[in-house]
Amino acid sequence: MQVQSDTQCVEQYLKNLSLDYELDLQLYVCEATAHEHLDEFCRHRIQNYQQDRDLPAIDGTSQLSTFLAIGVLSVRQCYQAVEVSGHKSRDGANTWVSELIWRDFYRHLMYLYPRLCMHQAFKQKTEALPWRHDEHVFLAWQQGQTGFPLVDAAMRQLNQTGWMHNRLRMVAAMFLTKHLFIDWRLGEGYFMSRLLDGDLASNNGGWQWSASTGVDAVPYFRIFNPTRQSERFDSTGLFIRQYVPELASLDNKSIHNPSNVQRKQLGYAQPMVNHALAVKQTKAWFKQLDDTAVNQMSLERV
Ligand SMILES: Cc1cc2nc3c(=O)[nH]c(=O)nc-3n(C[C@H](O)[C@H](O)[C@H](O)COP(=O)(O)OP(=O)(O)OC[C@H]3O[C@@H](n4cnc5c(N)ncnc54)[C@H](O)[C@@H]3O)c2cc1C
Repeated sequence: MQVQSDTQCVEQYLKNLSLDYELDLQLYVCEATAHEHLDEFCRHRIQNYQQDRDLPAIDGTSQLSTFLAIGVLSVRQCYQAVEVSGHKSRDGANTWVSELIWRDFYRHLMYLYPRLCMHQAFKQKTEALPWRHDEHVFLAWQQGQTGFPLVDAAMRQLNQTGWMHNRLRMVAAMFLTKHLFIDWRLGEGYFMSRLLDGDLASNNGGWQWSASTGVDAVPYFRIFNPTRQSERFDSTGLFIRQYVPELASLDNKSIHNPSNVQRKQLGYAQPMVNHALAVKQTKAWFKQLDDTAVNQMSLERV
């Protein structure tokens, strides 16, 4: 009797079920790949997750988001893999599991507050923010031409690979909403159109967190300074050099914020905005919302 290989068995099984077998075979292969990735991450990298997860230049995160987003891997399977890895009670594994919980949290929010999937902010008062409409500015952000190296590297990573590191998603989203003051919904839509792991709930949650319009969001006055983020999380500029090659020749210090002369020489954009002024204006707009809410409350009490 001829012994069939695993793949032949699966092929035969799917043919017998008269399913669209090519598609299902691809899913089978994809599922096997997903489990290999999960296994590799839990064996070798999860223990360093806490130290490495914020550094975009290294493979410090699992990169399992696409498998989770398309449903070939479940959060339960991830959790079980952590349990059997023997690292369960260690810091890296605990932090990783807490990230899986964020994913579930955003899904529950979407279920409990369906208006979130109807382009509405969780904090309804933020609907009154005077977002700016400027297609030219929005396009420069999309194309990674803002003149802020880390933001540009992040956007170019997204455009070239269909994936972006979590730290950079926060930096890029906060830059669009708090520096360029462009409506978070536009950024959310752009990410969704580009991300392979695009997921309605996580993407919406991430954008509303960054824009301070969401539940448990970052406070509006805590605005990332993109140059400081770059110095902290890409200190030698390794990641920037990969995605913004025109800056590759700069030293480790100036790569985070090249001088005007360097920018001209290397053909790199001037900064689109002044960080301090942009932050001041954004804080004032958010503060106005708070003041209006307080005034309304006192009027209601009278
Ligand atoms: C503006 C913005 C947009 C985002 N859009 C998406 C999106 O469309 N799809 C998506 O899956 N994630 C999104 N995230 C969350 C996070 O950036 C990605 O899940 C993570 O970068 C995926 O890489 P990884 O698999 O290596 O994550 P790991 O760090 O290895 O984390 C493991 C898993 O936990 C989940 N996870 C991790 N961080 C978060 C988080 N902050 N929120 C929700 N789930 C998380 C993901 O499923 C991830 O695969 C977004 C975050 C921000 C700030």
